[in-house]
Amino acid sequence: LNNETQQLLNLHDKAAKLYHHILINTPAGQSALNYLRKRGMSGELIDQFGLGYAPDQRILKPFFEQQKIDYQLLRKSGLFSEDQQGKLRDRFVERVMYPIKNGQGQVIAFSGRLLTNEKTDLPKYLNSPETPIFNKRRTLFNFDIARKSARKDGKLYLFEGFMDVISAFGAGITNGIASMGTSFTEEQVAIIGRATSQLDICYDGDEPGQNAIDRAISLVDDHRSNQLQVKVVQLPAGIDPDEYVQKYGAKQFSAYLANKEETTVEFYLRFLKNGKNLDNQNELMSYLNQVLKVIAKVDAPLEEDMYLQQLANEFNLDRQTLRTQINQLRQELG
Ligand code: ATP
Ligand code: MN
Ligand code: MN
Ligand code: MN
Repeated sequence: LNNETQQLLNLHDKAAKLYHHILINTPAGQSALNYLRKRGMSGELIDQFGLGYAPDQRILKPFFEQQKIDYQLLRKSGLFSEDQQGKLRDRFVERVMYPIKNGQGQVIAFSGRLLTNEKTDLPKYLNSPETPIFNKRRTLFNFDIARKSARKDGKLYLFEGFMDVISAFGAGITNGIASMGTSFTEEQVAIIGRATSQLDICYDGDEPGQNAIDRAISLVDDHRSNQLQVKVVQLPAGIDPDEYVQKYGAKQFSAYLANKEETTVEFYLRFLKNGKNLDNQNELMSYLNQVLKVIAKVDAPLEEDMYLQQLANEFNLDRQTLRTQINQLRQELG
């Protein structure tokens, strides 16, 4: 580790401790603590994830200046924004602070959430910018812990948001991770592929969530170099994993994950129906074509047969015809 890296890690460690202290021990943190309690966060979870609060008073700058920390280092840390005159101000104000850690469990960045759900001009979540120690494309929230528990469970769960990972953790699902913001990257796929052989995608049960499942599956598919097997757990409409845990409890959540796990083909059989009227012959044909293309990628004959049988039953078709069609598609696809 070079000196700058070490110093930046050191700054983040100090900042995380300060934000946490403010949340837990000071009147300035009271409203944030109430907010987290209302969201069902136990003291244990708050400690486990080192959650904190950045109050309205800008506190980080005086804190570090008192310690005679070098201006250039502060600039590079991403913890401050800079005005035209080069004056630094705390980047995070009035936000619940989620420390983001690297694979070794060292804090490398923060995400800060507003205390309100009301629409404002401010983004709901504000993330640290890219810095010498923080590369968004390579970072996965809770990966340091989840990779270890994936050794026992044999898989990782990919959630959309930090709160999903934290609530799942509280429910005993400690092998959950989330990408930074909304986009899942090929770098993250490679990192996951080195840690485990199965990834269960469990995004929000809304339309953006379903579209994101589709994108995540394609991304892993395109990443031919790894053997990562993808499964899907689709949540009920309109609910995300965090809300599911708060509403139905830990037991029901783990049961849901275990019972509703499906193959990517099963997901597509349902997903590709969206926006189509299958009573219409043309739309049905287009659906079948899309679905057969997905099934054509399955290289387990028994599994393929099962899907074809299912389609044949559902739409009253001849399974042999479907098989002929799929073989044709395979030749076209090479
Ligand atoms: P919460 O439960 O706190 O409202 P969420 O995780 O359910 O948050 P979603 O709206 O489902 O939030 O978004 C999923 C993820 O996308 C968030 O956890 C966050 O990482 C990211 N995200 C959402 N909104 C923003 C934003 N305005 N800026 C940056 N990232 C965002
Ligand atoms: Mn969402
Ligand atoms: Mn959500
Ligand atoms: Mn949520």
